[in-house]
Amino acid sequence: MDYIIRATTADGGVRAFAANMGQCVQTAFEIHNTSPVMTAALGRCLTASAMMGCMLKSDDDIITLSIKGDGPGKGIVVTSDSKARVRGYCFENNVDIPLKKNGKLDVSGAIGNGTLTVLRDMGLKEPYVGQVPLVSGEIAEDITYYYAVSEQIPSAVSLGTLIDRDYSVKQAGGFIIQIMPDADENMIDAIENKIKTIPAITKMLEDKMTLEDILNYVLGDFKVNILDKITPKYYCSCSREKVYKALLSVGREELEDMLKKDKKAVVHCHFCNKDYEFDEQCLIDMLS
Ligand SMILES: [Zn+2]
Repeated sequence: MDYIIRATTADGGVRAFAANMGQCVQTAFEIHNTSPVMTAALGRCLTASAMMGCMLKSDDDIITLSIKGDGPGKGIVVTSDSKARVRGYCFENNVDIPLKKNGKLDVSGAIGNGTLTVLRDMGLKEPYVGQVPLVSGEIAEDITYYYAVSEQIPSAVSLGTLIDRDYSVKQAGGFIIQIMPDADENMIDAIENKIKTIPAITKMLEDKMTLEDILNYVLGDFKVNILDKITPKYYCSCSREKVYKALLSVGREELEDMLKKDKKAVVHCHFCNKDYEFDEQCLIDMLS
């Protein structure tokens, strides 16, 4: 069962999130039929976005992570709302590249060099946008770097997706630990040193550790208070009505062109792979 926990340490110096996202990432795999390395990359992004979504303040806020790279996978887009309802897609679903020397899927090889853009839409006219170059393409390090540079929040991020032999998702999860401005220096060092010694997140999930176990283990020297438990979900918010509105906004000329050439308009939603079809009469009505 997928879930996310939100926690702080007793002294308030640290806030932490941990996520078990196996079913969400499996759903993404079933929708997009991604190859293992792209399932791993998409799974890491979805896990990060779900936890970052839980940091949003209001119900209507949306966070979007957009990765663009010069590798064969080209890029990934994921979004989450504050209830950890996530969705995402890869620019290229079928990337098949050799494993890394350590036997792991080569996510950074699939992504390549590029940028990570974080967009927080909070219902204001201008969304908050932060962009950093990719420092590794392994996603977790890139998000750590994003927080350090763009938001000045020292963070430790771990993300993992374990793919089974049949390409389905065996485990997916992660954590984000953030040091609050008033935390003392010793705390930062202690956490950083501890994180260097812990197993991969997917290994801990395989070993049947709960998210509570994992945060207690990572933050072992500090008392962890679990504040909240959230159930993430793969959910696409697209609808015929929204697509209709978007189609209206492409402009008269383009609509006339579709009407003339195809006698219909088909709009594809990348997030859930659904096609919305608008027939000839519908286009005529739009133009009248
Ligand atoms: Zn959709």
